[in-house]
Amino acid sequence: MSVKKQSRSRLSRSLLSSKKVSITNPRLVVLGLLLQQERPLTIEQLLKLSKGKLAQSTLYRVINDLGSFGLITEFTTPENTIVVELNTEDVNHHHHIFCENCGRIIDIELDNELEDDIQKEVRNIEEQYSLSIHGHSLELTGLCDSCNSME
Ligand SMILES: [Zn+2]
Ligand SMILES: [Zn+2]
Repeated sequence: MSVKKQSRSRLSRSLLSSKKVSITNPRLVVLGLLLQQERPLTIEQLLKLSKGKLAQSTLYRVINDLGSFGLITEFTTPENTIVVELNTEDVNHHHHIFCENCGRIIDIELDNELEDDIQKEVRNIEEQYSLSIHGHSLELTGLCDSCNSME
């Protein structure tokens, strides 16, 4: 076992114990994969990466559990595929780019000024329509760096 793998496993354990929930192997596998890949993953990608360690039904249950513990968040791709990503303290508000060719999902952060402008606009909309807005998302689609250089 490599040092890196050991520390991922330790981190996964401490994430679960920070929520005072039981540490099970399937939960550790999913958290470990998200930590290892450092990017959002679809159910299909998680299944493939787990190399048979997880049944699909188990995976759905684990994702449900981890979501209810607040350890991961779910969103959908433009094709409505479910994607999960880690939701730890050091994950800031960000956006996603979807590669139309290989399905890779890349995290990006927008310029602070632009985020501020979006916030201002959101406040205006809240006032104008007398409602409350709790968040926003912005998804970009295109080609990732490796697909883009494949000509
Ligand atoms: Zn790609
Ligand atoms: Zn934003």
